[in-house]
Amino acid sequence: MKKLPVVSRITIITIGMLVHIFLASMVNTVWQDRHVLNHFAYVPLVLAAVWFGKKAVWLALVPGMVPLVLAALGVGHEPLWNDAIRGTFYVAVTFIAGVISDRSRGLRSMARQTKQHLMVAEAKHQELSDMAKEQAAMLAHSSRLAEMGEMAAAMAHELNQPLTGIRNYAGNALYMLEENAGSIDEIKENLELVNQQVDRAAKIIAQMRSLARRAEIDLEPVQINSIIRETLEFLDSQMRLAGVEVVKNLDESLPLVQGDRIRLWLVFMNVAVNARQAMENCENRQLTVTTRYEPDHELPVVIIFKDTGPGFDSGDKLFEPFFTTKAPGKGTGLGLSISHAILHEHQGRIEASNDGGAVFTIRLPHQE
Ligand code: ADP
Repeated sequence: MKKLPVVSRITIITIGMLVHIFLASMVNTVWQDRHVLNHFAYVPLVLAAVWFGKKAVWLALVPGMVPLVLAALGVGHEPLWNDAIRGTFYVAVTFIAGVISDRSRGLRSMARQTKQHLMVAEAKHQELSDMAKEQAAMLAHSSRLAEMGEMAAAMAHELNQPLTGIRNYAGNALYMLEENAGSIDEIKENLELVNQQVDRAAKIIAQMRSLARRAEIDLEPVQINSIIRETLEFLDSQMRLAGVEVVKNLDESLPLVQGDRIRLWLVFMNVAVNARQAMENCENRQLTVTTRYEPDHELPVVIIFKDTGPGFDSGDKLFEPFFTTKAPGKGTGLGLSISHAILHEHQGRIEASNDGGAVFTIRLPHQE
């Protein structure tokens, strides 16, 4: 509601008082009766109290004192005690109304202040959440760069295998041709092996390309088993070289999952490469990958990577960004945090436990 300017308020109160005095004197002189119309004084007095608070008590002295003064001058019409009681009532009512008005003004200003504090807190909250978003974006960006770096290193390592193969087989074929040492079939066989290795290298490069290209998550119905097979095939030479036996225990009745193929591949790569690295100094090196369907569970598609390494004693910290126990330059500490984030994007989760080695259990919802 719009506030009346002070001048208008004072004017209204003054008019009210004048009307009261006019009516009171009219009734007084013409009808010789002041009882009813004397109460009209309460209107301007209460208005003044509402607008100006306790200060309005001073105004109550005017209608309160005038009859007393008149009585003292001997021109009063009523007994003195009557005028005194009326005056006291004017003052009391104005005072009470003033106190109530001051209180409610205080409450209103408290409410206003609280509202202002709330607005400041809200702005602070917004600022903090913007900062948090900015930092999350920065972390995601650096994670992605590190992820690319890690993958590039893994892929360069993988590319080395077919390139070494190509060099050997092509060298054999060349030697046989130059020295007239082998049959045409033997030369053909070596060239076919070169061909196979080229295909393998092309596949690795294609993976690397699709990883570099994709920034947005791209969900489609995917077969988890087929991504796992692809991952393990990709890591085959790496695992063989490290003396790791890979056991596949894949449930063929696994339903489809709404997922991003490349990202899930990245998760499985991270977990499998970690297992290989963890088992480097172990005698028995085995990685068992199990898939299972648990229809009663809210996340029924289960993927388990279990190794025979030393396990870990760092619990939940494993999934924190930059947590690593690997030598400087060997680990970024981002693999598992990225995997965790990727699974979160899929409404799934990843958990780690120890059971004669490390066990990483991934759970995903199945496709609706
Ligand atoms: P990074 O491999 O770069 O260290 P990760 O986030 O992939 O980063 O892993 C974080 C840490 O989790 C590793 O440094 C290691 O201590 C622990 N970890 C991951 N996988 C295994 C495993 N299979 N066995 C034991 N410890 C593991």
